[in-house]
Amino acid sequence: MATTASLDAPVTALSGVGPRLAESLAKLRIARVGDLLFHLPLRYEDRTRLTPIGALRPHQGALIEGTIDVSQVVFGRRRALLCRLSDGSGALHLRFFHFNAQQQQRLAQGRRVRCFGEARRGPHTLEMVHPEIQLIDPDQPAAVEAELTPVYPTTEGLHQARLRRLTDQALALLGDDDAGELLPPALREPLAMPTLADALRFVHRPPPDADLAMLAESMHPAQRRLVFEELLAHQLSLKRLREAARRFDAPRVSGGSLRARLLEALGFALTGAQQRVIGEIDADLDAGVPMLRLLQGDVGAGKTAVAAAVACALLEQGYQVAMMAPTELLAEQHGANLRRWFEPLGVDIVQLTSRATKRQRAPLLARLAEPAPLLAVGTHALFQQDVVYGRLGLIIVDEQHRFGVDQRLALRDKGASDGFRPHQLIMTATPIPRTLAMTAYADLDVSVLDELPPNRKPVRTVVMNESRRADLVARIVDATAEGRQVYWVCPLIEESEQLESQAATETAEQLAAALPDVRVGLVHGRLADRDKDAAMAAFAAGETQLLVATTVVEVGVDVPNASLMVIENAERLGLSQLHQLRGRVGRGARHADCVLLYKAPLSALARQRLEVMRETTDGFLIADRDLALRGPGELLGTRQAGAAQFRIADLSRDAALLGEVRRGAEWLLAEHPTIAARLVERWLADRVEYGGV
Ligand code: ADP
Ligand code: MG
Repeated sequence: MATTASLDAPVTALSGVGPRLAESLAKLRIARVGDLLFHLPLRYEDRTRLTPIGALRPHQGALIEGTIDVSQVVFGRRRALLCRLSDGSGALHLRFFHFNAQQQQRLAQGRRVRCFGEARRGPHTLEMVHPEIQLIDPDQPAAVEAELTPVYPTTEGLHQARLRRLTDQALALLGDDDAGELLPPALREPLAMPTLADALRFVHRPPPDADLAMLAESMHPAQRRLVFEELLAHQLSLKRLREAARRFDAPRVSGGSLRARLLEALGFALTGAQQRVIGEIDADLDAGVPMLRLLQGDVGAGKTAVAAAVACALLEQGYQVAMMAPTELLAEQHGANLRRWFEPLGVDIVQLTSRATKRQRAPLLARLAEPAPLLAVGTHALFQQDVVYGRLGLIIVDEQHRFGVDQRLALRDKGASDGFRPHQLIMTATPIPRTLAMTAYADLDVSVLDELPPNRKPVRTVVMNESRRADLVARIVDATAEGRQVYWVCPLIEESEQLESQAATETAEQLAAALPDVRVGLVHGRLADRDKDAAMAAFAAGETQLLVATTVVEVGVDVPNASLMVIENAERLGLSQLHQLRGRVGRGARHADCVLLYKAPLSALARQRLEVMRETTDGFLIADRDLALRGPGELLGTRQAGAAQFRIADLSRDAALLGEVRRGAEWLLAEHPTIAARLVERWLADRVEYGGV
């Protein structure tokens, strides 16, 4: 026992932990002794009592004890060692596919053994396949476990028994008092939460009478308390980031005539929602501290026009504005729009994507480095290390859900100098349910664009079996004859851009053959940039009528005349992706249609997804359904960001706690800022970007 270690000490302070083991533990985010305590069991096994064999039910994990009355090698489909175990109440078979002579000897007739495993239905009786075995001396009855057995998430080469011994050591250090407790009673008691030490002891070593079903659902008060604390730490870290950011100065701008001239050039009147949101942003820009605002607006709500309008005041007062898009295609399209809108007004536009060669890059970088106003448009290339801005006043990030949370946080340093930070506007078409948004974006203010431009008719959606493809192709002849343009999307089936591109190419060839009078275009990720641009431009100009595309057109692409979209393999796509894709049509005056082609048979989940798509075009409703069907990880783009953020919390399971978490965070920051700092340190020390150290 390592009595000298403390919970803050590195794990190597524990007895038996060398560099190799420390390395394995690091993979589980366990660096300090205390981290072991926050590495919670995935599930529990009950080895606290013997179950009579006669009382066993299939799929039940249980500890049993009995005498082997038959032991033989059988030759069925696979050779196996089969032992019949009886205890007076009943009998079952133990089945081993892997065994050697010595094990066969151990399990000879007449032996008394104790087994832990899951009972399953076998050909004759219940069976346990490869249970854990303990030989029992009939004259010396063995004790059962005093507590439920925790099963921890682990990594290769690190066994459960090892993890249990380590947590034993850490629990011993925890002591009996309120060791490590950070939550003041005023916060804990109204919520009837156990102390930290009690909660940790309970979840690591639950007593035999603990409610296993409740534990399995993570609904036990001891578990809720720990989840609450983790969510609280995250909320605090984001709030602290926000406060830290707001200690900087930012350009203070307002008014000017450029915006009025831009709005005239747009050719449409802003919706009420666009005007309201622009007003909210204007107030931020005039406050002298960096704006940190999330603009949520459903697909097609007109976020680009909002971005252009708010850029005006900064441009007019000599600042640079940088607008970042997640794909080359979208950066290209924004570039074209912004040039069309702004160049006649004398605003300088610089377009920078990762396509630019070194030679092309150099003069562009030189222009950005000048302290002169301009509008820079591009992909993440805009924020590469070597890009320096002369006078950056506003960063606009489009389609934020395509970037991870970590990338968003990393962006904040661009354009910063002593005591100064640019404003940030983050735009997303993924409508995030309110509670979730307030947790995931606690560092941001939120504006919602909740109105579509007038005369938008909801896209009519039909779900169609792939076997009816021929009918569909006939329909396309009619549609194009009426002057409509069509997207035909071939989404990723294999995890390979090459195969996806190949499928699109073949589909384009087939469609071109079947539709000799229709001009067919093709765009996919493997095309040369020049060809990609040319294909998009030809479609936008109406030169091609049918565009076969991969999901490269998913985000932001805007060709208002396109009014029919076919999505192949729709059953393989998630709801938000289908919604994004479908959002490419229904942007013009004409009624638009979307055909979701699927291959039978449909899974229950796929059927539900397609049903949601058929029933509604409301992005917020779809997001709610998506959250229910999938959980929040993908909704927030954490999949792209890599590792999961939380150790134990799960935003969809734990959503009910979020209100309390928010109130708790505000109270702690106001009343106990040092505790707030220690909570962040405890849970997020290894996540520098979240304010850990
Ligand atoms: P998103 O919010 O998905 O980024 P866009 O900015 O691409 O939407 O806008 C979708 C389409 O609606 C564009 O063709 C845009 O020019 C048009 N649009 C934007 N605002 C209005 C408006 N107030 N009235 C009419 N059309 C608009
Ligand atoms: Mg957009």
